[in-house]
Amino acid sequence: MTGSVALVGAGPGDAGLLTRRGLQLLEEADVIVADRLGARTVLAQLAAEGVHLRAEVIDVGKLPGHHPVPQDGINALLVELAAAGRRVVRLKGGDPFVFGRGREEQQHCEAAGIPVEVVSGVTSAIAVPAVAGIPLTYRGVAESFTVLSGHDPVGHLPGGRDHTVVLLMGVHTLGHSAHVLGAGERRLDCPVAIIEDGYGERQRVTVGTLGTIAHLAASRQVRSPAVVVIGDVVALHTAD
Ligand code: SAH
Repeated sequence: MTGSVALVGAGPGDAGLLTRRGLQLLEEADVIVADRLGARTVLAQLAAEGVHLRAEVIDVGKLPGHHPVPQDGINALLVELAAAGRRVVRLKGGDPFVFGRGREEQQHCEAAGIPVEVVSGVTSAIAVPAVAGIPLTYRGVAESFTVLSGHDPVGHLPGGRDHTVVLLMGVHTLGHSAHVLGAGERRLDCPVAIIEDGYGERQRVTVGTLGTIAHLAASRQVRSPAVVVIGDVVALHTAD
């Protein structure tokens, strides 16, 4: 009998932000195929809380040789496990459909005749700024937001500081992004916050402007994972 795959969002790294459906599927699973970011932390927290999961856990974020499993390998693994009749949970950091390649995995499994359930997760794009008291919208301050990957160079973006910009995977390209956005309508004095390791032990908030943030990030040795928020909403952040 064919098994199944559930694409479950683990949230940003706090078991409290896993959905009830997600937890139920983890409890029923035979195998959990887990990402490093968010997913592993949530599994460790569940274990520490005494939640016993009988599933085998396969870590595709980092193997003993420290090489992450390439996407094709993950797709093939999900199909192979489910075709062998196992109930598979693919546990992904944040939300599976936000820079998570979740739909690709779903398409690949469905093409092989494997039923797939998608369980949304709390995305770090929204939840990580929230730990610093930063909302992406606020009446009279920002009416809309854009979430971008820092993997691709930032181009022209709509709106000014009232249109919040959130960068995921944006630490390495921060200097370039800040330069491009600062040269536009937002200008160099537009507030910026970087929230590192949201919900984690290294959680730390760095606040500056488009003109100062690259320098600040370098001097404070800001590291991934981090969410960068750009716009007037940053001024609403909670004091440390
Ligand atoms: N699907 C995920 C995003 C995957 S891209 C989601 O919806 O959250 C990975 C990026 O997410 C990281 O580079 C970082 O920018 C961000 N991220 C995820 N978890 C984070 C955390 N706990 N703290 C800070 N940034 C995080």
